[in-house]
Amino acid sequence: MPGFELFGDKERKQVQDVLDSGVLMRYGFDGMRNGHWKSKELEAALSQRMQTQYVHLVSSGTAALTVALATAGIGAGDEVIMPTFTFVASFESILALGAIPVLVDVDDTLTLDPDAVEKAITQKTKVIMPVHMCGSMADLDALQSLCKKYNLLLLEDACQAIGGTYQGKPLGSIGDLGCFSFDYVKTITCGEGGAVITNNEGYYQNAHKYSDHGHDHIGNDRGAEQHPFLGYNFRISELNAAVGLAQLSRLDEFINLQKRNYTILRKALSTIPEVTFRRVPEGGEENYSFLSFFLPSEDVAQNVHQALGANGVDACFYWYNNNWHYYRKWEHLTHLKSLGNLPQEVADGLPDYANVDFSASDLWVGRTISCLIKLGWTEKEMKERAKKMIEVIQSFI
Ligand SMILES: *Cc1c(COP(=O)(O)O)cnc(C)c1O
Repeated sequence: MPGFELFGDKERKQVQDVLDSGVLMRYGFDGMRNGHWKSKELEAALSQRMQTQYVHLVSSGTAALTVALATAGIGAGDEVIMPTFTFVASFESILALGAIPVLVDVDDTLTLDPDAVEKAITQKTKVIMPVHMCGSMADLDALQSLCKKYNLLLLEDACQAIGGTYQGKPLGSIGDLGCFSFDYVKTITCGEGGAVITNNEGYYQNAHKYSDHGHDHIGNDRGAEQHPFLGYNFRISELNAAVGLAQLSRLDEFINLQKRNYTILRKALSTIPEVTFRRVPEGGEENYSFLSFFLPSEDVAQNVHQALGANGVDACFYWYNNNWHYYRKWEHLTHLKSLGNLPQEVADGLPDYANVDFSASDLWVGRTISCLIKLGWTEKEMKERAKKMIEVIQSFI
């Protein structure tokens, strides 16, 4: 999924515009900026690409999640349902607001299992936050039905799935709020950056204010602006937004390359009957940033993963033992190792994660290997890679 692989003239031209004016900030300095408003332009372009009315850029994907939750009024003691397989940013953003991350099992989609979600809903639940991991999506129909039934918000973490679709709609645009990351290893990058998208004007109004110290952004004298509520600084810089503008214009080019490479690998691995693939919910199309598949057992998966590395097949991940993406290695969360005191609501409300049963997730994630799909791999390299992978897998089954 790495946009960092392809950085070229388009990116340089956009950044040069900003350097020429010297205006590195997204707000103000109207006279100096030679008409360049890179953040605003990128917001408009994303709004069009994501078929969503409002877009607000922020400094990271983690900031986007935090701002999205804050704009919907999520605060101390509120429960947010999130998956066991994700990135640590999910619970970081929830905890940042004093809210409680409620971890829930994933199924063969490698995203939230809707039945497990329903069982986890309590009086305090406010949000269901599916994470479209590794380029594919949660069962959004089922989750949306739960949101309607229990009057909850749906927040899509589409940080790893930009360009994917569900029933013809861009991932991120289906929930009440959607979030993207443009960090350096995502499908398209700003260096660092993120975005919140929504069709709810109220959330949007909250988002731009909250992420800029509460500034109401009325008039053109920043110092005289009002602050209707408490905010923070999650602003993106013009330099980062400039890179993003170039990268967004190349999103389809990147996805097509990923699709070509993914398809070569998938076809090859399909010839092994013991290999099955991650389920993509009906009506969904991945962004092809990873190919994720299941092996017959945890042992086989561990062995295959090790042997792939030893045989020079890089960029394959075994998430089950990963420090950043799977609940088993999150002892900093389990033991609430924070620098300062956490809100009492968190201390009181957090489930005892040292003693929970996520064996349903383990059954899937323990057997999963995900291969990153790089843009720079040629068809020939892809075919050689596929051949090596088949040899390695077959030696263990
Ligand atoms: C990368 C990522 C984030 C956070 O994005 P940053 O821009 O790195 O803060 C959040 N969720 C998921 C699923 C991610 O992959």
